[in-house]
Amino acid sequence: MREGIIYIISGPSGGGKTTLTKRVMADLDNLRFSVSCTTREPREGEVDGRDYRFVSVSKFNEMVKENKFAEYANVYGNLYGTPIDQFEIAKKCGVDLILDIDVQGAKQIRDKYSEAVFCFVAPSSIEELERRLTLRGSEGSSVIQKRLSVAQKEMEETEHYDYIIHNDDLEQAVSALKDIIESKRREYEEAP
Ligand code: ADP
Ligand code: 5GP
Repeated sequence: MREGIIYIISGPSGGGKTTLTKRVMADLDNLRFSVSCTTREPREGEVDGRDYRFVSVSKFNEMVKENKFAEYANVYGNLYGTPIDQFEIAKKCGVDLILDIDVQGAKQIRDKYSEAVFCFVAPSSIEELERRLTLRGSEGSSVIQKRLSVAQKEMEETEHYDYIIHNDDLEQAVSALKDIIESKRREYEEAP
């Protein structure tokens, strides 16, 4: 049995990471979503334990001290971290894992698990990001502006990624991510 493959999905807020990940997970087997811990407030419709584990700042800091995270970062003013247990289990059990994490977290994973597959979801422009975040309606304008102010810096990280997925047309982007996952699986399965 082969090891689970770790797929990292990063990119600016509003670029379409959640949408793409959900679409691809609905179509492919043996792919699990890595549920992060976060100190941000749940959005309408988000379910604790499915979308995130929503925790207090003190609980998060306790988990940091106990080395419970594979990576963690302060993103747009809140703490986010990938619990290491599901990460290690998936790797050992041959289940592929998809991590929707920011560029700081991806850097930490790159240092520890260089065999992971790094994908960057890029928007066509910052204006399009603003349009999508506004339409999504899950954050107020000051939070949207905070996220947009970091987007340009995040875009400068693309050179460190294995793949850039241009999410202009959603169907094309879904198919690009599926192709990446399937071709990596074939590579692992054909390895001697
Ligand atoms: P992220 O997880 O990267 O913050 P989301 O997946 O929440 O981004 O997408 C932000 C918004 O943009 C959502 O309302 C989503 O429906 C929309 N969206 C995603 N991809 C596209 C696309 N290719 N074209 C237009 N709107 C999109
Ligand atoms: P949101 O609040 O929109 O769900 O997520 C904000 C940002 O946090 C996104 O860029 C998302 O990829 C990132 N994020 C979500 N979970 C984690 C995590 O566990 N670690 C890190 N470093 N970033 C995360």
